[in-house]
Amino acid sequence: MTQKDFESAYFTMNEDDVRQYVLTQMTYFDKDAELEVNEIGDGNLNYVFLIKERKMNRSLIIKQAGPVARISDEFVVSPDRNRIEYDILKLQGESAPGLVPKVYHYDPIMNCMSMEDLSDHQIMRDALMEKKTFPNFADHITTFMVNTLLNTSDVVMNHKEKKALVKSFVNPDLCEISEDLVFTEPFYDCPRNDVFKGSKEVVENLIWSDEQLKLETAKLKFEFMTNAQSLIHGDLHTGSVFVTKDSTKIIDPEFAFYGPAGYDVGNVIANLIFAYMNGFVTIENEQDKKSYLAYLSQTIIEVVDLFKAKFEIAWRKADKERTAEYSGFYNYYMSRLLKDTAGTAGCELIRRTVGIAHVKDLTVIQNHEQRIYAETICLKAGKTFILERETFSTGEEFLNVVTKLL
Ligand code: ADP
Ligand code: MG
Ligand code: MG
Ligand code: MG
Repeated sequence: MTQKDFESAYFTMNEDDVRQYVLTQMTYFDKDAELEVNEIGDGNLNYVFLIKERKMNRSLIIKQAGPVARISDEFVVSPDRNRIEYDILKLQGESAPGLVPKVYHYDPIMNCMSMEDLSDHQIMRDALMEKKTFPNFADHITTFMVNTLLNTSDVVMNHKEKKALVKSFVNPDLCEISEDLVFTEPFYDCPRNDVFKGSKEVVENLIWSDEQLKLETAKLKFEFMTNAQSLIHGDLHTGSVFVTKDSTKIIDPEFAFYGPAGYDVGNVIANLIFAYMNGFVTIENEQDKKSYLAYLSQTIIEVVDLFKAKFEIAWRKADKERTAEYSGFYNYYMSRLLKDTAGTAGCELIRRTVGIAHVKDLTVIQNHEQRIYAETICLKAGKTFILERETFSTGEEFLNVVTKLL
């Protein structure tokens, strides 16, 4: 095997390259360690390698950003997103200890980083599709969101230091993906959409012909692009969450940038709703269905209510910007955040049904009638969240949007 040059120019690595890379560029394993390397990426954008060393029973993850997305080479995305992912994982680890993987190194030439192997965890979307439940998830994810979102805002940060962070997390390529795929393409008959045949008519009638809905998505898109409120995760769906019964780790924050705090909260809620609809149509045993949906209902409610409760406590405790102390400002801030939460939940529900990037929760539904039913509920709920986004304040109200439609 010829010695590769990892130090002068970027190239995308295969498994053999990664073995050499780890042995020559890092000190994590002994120089003569026997390493097993497997590419295990299943996401849309990057290459993820699991490296194992049997003798000492040690393992490591290397994530490398490719020059184009895996999902389609139409998306040319700056490999600088790997730096953003490394930097923000460090920040999030400080704000929310134990809730993100440990990171070890970042290499600006190879655009790769290394982190803790979380193979003892399971991706939450997969676990939910196996109808597993995670009673601590709502507690963990709300701590993660409150800490990362409030700590990076102008409410508590020195404004100049915050602006420096805004600058270092400018993320134009990945923001463009969200601007197009979340807020624009799903709302007209864009060739890049991927509509399930049986749902096409519903999409045309409910989404593409609704001018009021389109106007509201334009407002949400501009909110996303211009409201530099918090350093958000930016891709907080259940495929970006690793779980065990008692541990939760949030991964894959490469979409991070300064945007509306409610964007993260809304994505969590929408993705729990996908799991809910999957369970609703696929679980045959009535008792199993009832208890699984009760768990998800409770979780949706708690994500909103615990988020609000913890955010308020953290707000009261924080050493704040003077104007944020004015009476009435907290309520103004939280109601705006919840409005963005509902609007984002709505866009996510629609774009994952209509747009290019689908969720397995819906696509695995084998029976066509059931899939159309589940998709229709997601589209209707999405519309309600967008059009009535000013009216949501409790977890119960978020959940009711879905349950009323069933
Ligand atoms: P992408 O940005 O391409 O979506 P992700 O960061 O979501 O990449 O990772 C893709 C997959 O790789 C995950 O779904 C998971 O299966 C695996 N993976 C990622 N990070 C780790 C980790 N730290 N430990 C174990 N597996 C991981
Ligand atoms: Mg991912
Ligand atoms: Mg994934
Ligand atoms: Mg990603």
